[in-house]
Amino acid sequence: MKSTRIILKSGKDQSLRKYHPWVFSGAIKKIKGNTPAEGDIVEVYDNKDEFLGKGHYQKGTIAIRILSFKEVAIDSIFWKTKIEEACNLRKMLGLLHSTETNVFRLINAEGDGLPGLIVDYYNGFGVIQLHSVGMYRNLAFIAEAIKETLGESLTGLYNKSVLTLPYKADIEKENYYLYGDVSGNEVKEHDLLFKVNWEEGQKTGFYVDQRENRYMVKQLAKDRKVLNLFGYTGGFSVYALAGDCERVDTLDSSAKAIELADQNVELNFTEKHKHKGIVADAFSFLKEMKDDYGLIVLDPPAFAKHNNVLSNALQGYKRLNRLAMEKIAQGGVLFTFSCSQVVSTENFRKMVFAASASAGRNVKVLYQLTQPADHPISIFHPEGEYLKGLVLQIN
Ligand code: SAH
Repeated sequence: MKSTRIILKSGKDQSLRKYHPWVFSGAIKKIKGNTPAEGDIVEVYDNKDEFLGKGHYQKGTIAIRILSFKEVAIDSIFWKTKIEEACNLRKMLGLLHSTETNVFRLINAEGDGLPGLIVDYYNGFGVIQLHSVGMYRNLAFIAEAIKETLGESLTGLYNKSVLTLPYKADIEKENYYLYGDVSGNEVKEHDLLFKVNWEEGQKTGFYVDQRENRYMVKQLAKDRKVLNLFGYTGGFSVYALAGDCERVDTLDSSAKAIELADQNVELNFTEKHKHKGIVADAFSFLKEMKDDYGLIVLDPPAFAKHNNVLSNALQGYKRLNRLAMEKIAQGGVLFTFSCSQVVSTENFRKMVFAASASAGRNVKVLYQLTQPADHPISIFHPEGEYLKGLVLQIN
């Protein structure tokens, strides 16, 4: 069967020539050959018939996710090579086989040259999140390659993609175990313990991307009264306790998350009384709370998932940051984050600037934070830099 050729409109080849891995549907001039089904491999050409790349076809704004800019076969060898490359990077980073940390991102989509595929590693257990029909159709190859590459370092694989696969796609969506069937694991991050339940938890179970930023909270928490807003299962709180904070409150709107936060504190410390879990709305809490917290973490969910809601999202972030800045104690440390892909580093900084000005406090930038190296960013795909953070001192 002859492969399908996608011909781009004149001028629409520029981003592919700079190795950006997405082809938007509006860039397509015509489709030659068989009409592709969702998830099929298609070849992309410019309007003078020059080959540009090949990748997975899908209906939607991003029509093609490029897997290779070379004319190679996308077969079991391709998957094995890519996955080995990703695993070797985690080895080089000292994560795979580390005795202090056994939870990290094993495969980070575009950042590892595998758009649409995320795999997080939980002390031997891999949790897979598929974002494209193409990756869905290749799951068997992918699972086999992960198994072969990790060998005894892998005890099971869970496919958790019901919420991440395109909802309109005509495929059967189900979360299930490819092999191994424990519903959760105890993991270790910088020698601190956490219970993770991938079946019921958010995302793949844990916010693996905040590991190094949580460690920084440990460095700055000593003797401070800490507030962990949008705290989920208490990641930042456990680090604050490890850093000898005076006490820490974890707040989240999810009662289930707070229950786990309490458990994670108990897993690591005997001084339970230093921690309080609060189920509440962060905005309402900030308005009512006292002004004696010396360290506040603001790690809200993505307020903007699309560009068309960007300005509303920035207003939301600003309101949140202003409230925290108004209430934090003199000389307090504020960790503030955005995990929205559409909020750029510059937008984020401008938002923090505007919040600081309207709070009327003197604000110093101490550290500029991002995602850790197991969430690599392809230089050709700046959208991959989704996590932005600032550590501020507020006077
Ligand atoms: N900081 C966490 C991850 C936070 S994810 C960690 O390191 O693990 C964002 C969290 O915000 C989710 O747990 C979600 O339940 C919570 N959330 C969303 N909206 C909220 C609101 N308005 N008030 C309080 N929590 C909220």
